[in-house]
Amino acid sequence: MNASLRPQSTDEFCLLINGKLVPGAATMNVINPATEETVAVCPRADLHQLNEAVAAAKAAFATWKKVPIEKRRQLVLKLADGLESRTSEIAHLLTQEQGKPLGFAMWEVGEACRIIRTFAAMELKEEVLRDTPEVRIVRQRAPLGVVAAITPWNVPIVLLMLKVPPALIAGDTVVVKPAPTTPLSTLRFAEICAEVLPPGVVNVICDQNDLGGALTSHPDVAKVAFTGSTATGRKVMASIAPTLKHVTLELGGNDAAIVLDDVDPKEIAPKLFFGAMANSGQICLAIKRAYVPEKIYDEVCTELGKLADRAIVGNGLEEGTEFGPIQNKMQYDKVRNYLEDARRNGRIVAGGQEHKGKGYFVRPTIVRDIGDDAAVVKEEQFGPILPVLKYKDVEDAIARTNNSEYGLGATVWGNDLDRAYQVASRIESGTVWVNKHLDLPPDIPFAGAKQSGLGIEMGQEGLEEFTQQRIVNIAKK
Ligand code: NAD
Repeated sequence: MNASLRPQSTDEFCLLINGKLVPGAATMNVINPATEETVAVCPRADLHQLNEAVAAAKAAFATWKKVPIEKRRQLVLKLADGLESRTSEIAHLLTQEQGKPLGFAMWEVGEACRIIRTFAAMELKEEVLRDTPEVRIVRQRAPLGVVAAITPWNVPIVLLMLKVPPALIAGDTVVVKPAPTTPLSTLRFAEICAEVLPPGVVNVICDQNDLGGALTSHPDVAKVAFTGSTATGRKVMASIAPTLKHVTLELGGNDAAIVLDDVDPKEIAPKLFFGAMANSGQICLAIKRAYVPEKIYDEVCTELGKLADRAIVGNGLEEGTEFGPIQNKMQYDKVRNYLEDARRNGRIVAGGQEHKGKGYFVRPTIVRDIGDDAAVVKEEQFGPILPVLKYKDVEDAIARTNNSEYGLGATVWGNDLDRAYQVASRIESGTVWVNKHLDLPPDIPFAGAKQSGLGIEMGQEGLEEFTQQRIVNIAKK
């Protein structure tokens, strides 16, 4: 690293504003959710630094948009190389601030590199829409300007890469704001950006949940790329109304799994279990309720219970840990309330006990004999709790699946693929998997339906969201 850019000690974390790694106006502690100890002291920006970051991005846009796409592509690829070369260090940090098992954190950093490289390989070519003796109509893709990239705490590095690389390839500049409880891995990525990119092209600021509104409503921000809860998504929408910005909102979900009656319960249970419990259930696309036919209901519940009993929950840095803690105290308290709701309204087959001692731990919990009206079923619980619901008729399971304000993902499990496909085709969600879960190739578009989002991330469409189409319509005679 260039000496002038280097933080004073390797433990130090800095904001990135206009190409410089700088301290924040204040500091805040980042807590390890497995131990409740401080992982590091993190810089916290104030409004003045936010304005500096936006001004730097705006100034950098004037030249960055003129850099040929081939050159931008090379620089974006260098970000992937830089991240890859620091995989182990950043994964360890991710485990400490986020809680996920180290193997999963290593996967996350590797996946982030794959996403960067996928976007770097994409084109934004001119398209001839009509060419006749009289007229030629061409579609061009122009950059938008400054993008605000706002991320949540569950998969911070992967979700960041659905925003920064496509923005850079499109010719936009960026101000990143990570979630206050998981900023550290993003700040290490900021160091890589400082080394690779011209000043101001990527800026990273941190807050204590207090600067989001100022960033999204800023008149010099042209687009907001937001991932987070539906409640905050609504606030973002309201805050951009006066300046009518472009926006993508990747929001919450309450994904259902519909199990059809021709599956083997023993075979299906581990797949449902992983789909619900990965990252301790803190995935927007986790299975958050499972509809299981009457005739195999008991057996599926029993198998799921066995898996939950066997699960190894602990500090993500310890070898063998399969499931880490809930990421932060606020979410931990929410999940404990959902456990209480599960105890009141259903029957807990496994898990559900209160954790004693340090750390925000919740064991994988399976709940049966519960109705659709229970809060743990109809709301996004975002924790390791799987309510298993009984159905008689698949029409009923489809209707209950669709009876949700959310529409992010869903899964259908069945041996008759035609039948499973027919069921999948009737689910009101942006993504529906059949006989698998959480397969998200970065070249395939991803979008939420209903209150789960607006706009598209990933795929060619996910890149084009960072552009403005310009139609050039030429009279030939
Ligand atoms: P959150 O909405 O509380 O916070 C997300 C981000 O928004 C954070 O960086 C936060 O600081 C920021 N923020 C807070 N107030 C803001 C405001 N007024 N304006 C702008 N930004 C503001 O979400 P979370 O609790 O960090 O994450 C969990 C949620 O994210 C869940 O609902 C989950 O389903 C959702 N999520 C969705 C996807 C997806 O792709 N659809 C992916 C991951 C997570």
